[in-house]
Amino acid sequence: MSQESQETNITHQQMLDLIQQLNDYSYAYHVKDTPIVPDAEYDRLYRQLQTIEADHSDWIQADSPTQRVGEKPDNGFANVAHTVPMLSLDNAFDNESLADFDQRIRKLLGADGQITYCCEPKLDGLAISLRYEEGRLVRGVTRGDGLSGEDITSNIKTLYSIPLTLRTQTPPTVLEVRGEIYMPKDGFEKLNKLAVEKGDKAFVNPRNAAAGSLRQLDPKITASRPLVMCAYSIGYVEGWEQPESHYSGLLQLSEWGFRTNDLMQKVEGAEGCIEYYEMLNKQRADLSYDIDGIVYKVDRISLQNQLGFIARAPRWAIARKFPAQEEMTQVLGIDFQV
Ligand code: NAD
Repeated sequence: MSQESQETNITHQQMLDLIQQLNDYSYAYHVKDTPIVPDAEYDRLYRQLQTIEADHSDWIQADSPTQRVGEKPDNGFANVAHTVPMLSLDNAFDNESLADFDQRIRKLLGADGQITYCCEPKLDGLAISLRYEEGRLVRGVTRGDGLSGEDITSNIKTLYSIPLTLRTQTPPTVLEVRGEIYMPKDGFEKLNKLAVEKGDKAFVNPRNAAAGSLRQLDPKITASRPLVMCAYSIGYVEGWEQPESHYSGLLQLSEWGFRTNDLMQKVEGAEGCIEYYEMLNKQRADLSYDIDGIVYKVDRISLQNQLGFIARAPRWAIARKFPAQEEMTQVLGIDFQV
């Protein structure tokens, strides 16, 4: 094994140090809900690691953040295995890599025409999986490390946007819904104002506040926090015919009583994806909740199944991140509350 990467001029040991650094950041972010660097800095180092690994595939470590999702939770909640893994998303940081993604999809599918994508705001909160049996909510589990997460059923039952029973007489035998729990901006501001008045520490951002609120051992505290759940996909279903498209699945979830995002839209090809990005980037500051990008998903479920997954993310989806808004000084200058 060569000990120095030709392309990146980085030694094997430096790469191991980089993995350690990223894993420390990830632990602080995913497990402690207390980020120690801004997302943009994490993403920059992560991309650096991806470049080194692309240059030296024989250096790839099992504990590299490029090979796994999130972190194993370490607090007082029971661990539950996911029926279907809850994965991460690949990222695109510019229009060119979005166009590359579309090109890759068309090549893999051998498609001549345009691909239809479903575009959705990437809500900046926490992923949750909700399980319904015979139409009744039985469990809510965080993403965790993607294979298993924390059972936070008592806490999520306090959210009014989560239906306790599905609004139908003929529910699927089993339904697992995936979505994001987030804190709208106005609720976050009120919560922080109250915290400061009481002499408590402020939360660093709405995502951090949502994560801390959901992991409370006392559900009464969760109930007092302004949290909202928005459904973004069907993770697993039994006793019900899957819709042909992701978009129609979202419409079905809305009929069953879930909140879905009203800015979701179907577009054609890379051009449609880029137009949607321009449109949402302009509206971003005026939205009542934080988003950190856009998620593009191949809309047809049969094509998603054909494309499948890579190590930690589906091949049929990508997140186009917005340029970073937060600065390191802002993150480090605030006293955190967990
Ligand atoms: P991700 O946040 O980039 O994407 C996956 C997640 O997107 C899903 O789990 C889901 O929760 C969310 N999502 C929101 N809206 C969605 C929608 N409409 N459809 C599907 N998913 C949707 O990936 P990740 O693995 O959760 O985390 C990686 C990111 O977390 C990094 O890019 C970085 O920005 C941040 N991070 C920051 C630090 C830090 O120290 N600041 C550390 C680790 C990770």
